[in-house]
Amino acid sequence: MSAHSDWIEEQRRLLNCLPLGVMLTDAQGLIWCCNEVLAGLMGLSLDQIEGRCLYDWWPELVALEGTRPSLPYRRPSPASAAVEDWLSFKVRVQALELGIELGIELGGAQPRAYRVWSFQAEASRELAQTQADFVATVSHELRTPLTSIKGFVDTLLNAREQFDPAQVDRFLRIIKSQADRLTCLVEDILTVSRIQSGRLKNIPQRLGIAEVAERVLDQLADRYDARRVALDLPAGLPVIRADPDRLEQILTHLIDNALKYSDHPTLVRVRAGLDPEHDDRIQLSVDDQGTGIAPEHLSTLFHRFNRIDSPLTRQREGTGLGLYITKALVESLGGTIQVDSQLGRGSTFTVGLPVAQVVEALGGDPPGSRACPPGEVSARS
Ligand code: ADP
Repeated sequence: MSAHSDWIEEQRRLLNCLPLGVMLTDAQGLIWCCNEVLAGLMGLSLDQIEGRCLYDWWPELVALEGTRPSLPYRRPSPASAAVEDWLSFKVRVQALELGIELGIELGGAQPRAYRVWSFQAEASRELAQTQADFVATVSHELRTPLTSIKGFVDTLLNAREQFDPAQVDRFLRIIKSQADRLTCLVEDILTVSRIQSGRLKNIPQRLGIAEVAERVLDQLADRYDARRVALDLPAGLPVIRADPDRLEQILTHLIDNALKYSDHPTLVRVRAGLDPEHDDRIQLSVDDQGTGIAPEHLSTLFHRFNRIDSPLTRQREGTGLGLYITKALVESLGGTIQVDSQLGRGSTFTVGLPVAQVVEALGGDPPGSRACPPGEVSARS
């Protein structure tokens, strides 16, 4: 390591001790190092900031004198439009001339003067409101299962002998399902936080849709009658390249909604097939015969916290985060999502995903595939 990179490393350590977002640039605005607070503020990783030019983000700063309050920040190349909304805010920026001429003596070719820039977010009214909504919705949703778990555990601890084994068993099942609900909620909250900070990571691998769909149905079986879901996955489906956990989250949200928003038990079909218009993409759809969605609600369906104001939605638990998460996850996998729905008739959510680059026909028994003969529907029992 050169004396210069040692010096930069030392500055990074110092900057990381500061509570403000801070970066160190040279006179041309090239960012030599920044701290974790700034990376968090900008929703980017250190690698995505260091080495870039400060003026790419804030051209106004070229002529900076003293403090510049209220400069808008929009994170470049967001994963999705929804993320972009979230990461728009104003910053208050201050620059300090370090006036240190380093370079030749530290092994660099040119002497270099550095500047230290500090950044503070100005919470916009909308952002503050969104955060308040988030806390209110999420705390309410967390409290409901917690209250139920506490109530049943108290009952069992204080008066277990008054109940017969079947009743005790029923209480334990309720506790388990409420604990599962809490786990899902926490997972959703963590996913939203990763989406918003731009830290959603995918570890893609080659996988068969059937394997993931089977796993999702097994997990949902505790909450729903498994016979209500039919898998229609033809043989010969190409392998896709996706993060299995992400695909599992996507399918879980869509199937869960399809079952949840039907006011009487109807069949939900999960189908997959090649996209008729693009043979390098696969289409995965979840089809229900539930309440359906009125056309005026379709444009905001994937918005954060969106819940349609209907009697059935009011009866069902939910945060309005499921479809927002689903869309962001689908887009993070390079896919698309669309919905067709008719009020009172049902809805179809269709996800398009790229197939793995080397398309493998799932002849025989490919890894991760449970293929039915073409057209056959396997209802789970
Ligand atoms: P949540 O289910 O937690 O309310 P979602 O983001 O998953 O949040 O869904 C947003 C809203 O869209 C729901 O509240 C519901 O009103 C509506 N919705 C979602 N999926 C369906 C569906 N399959 N059929 C009818 N309405 C749906």
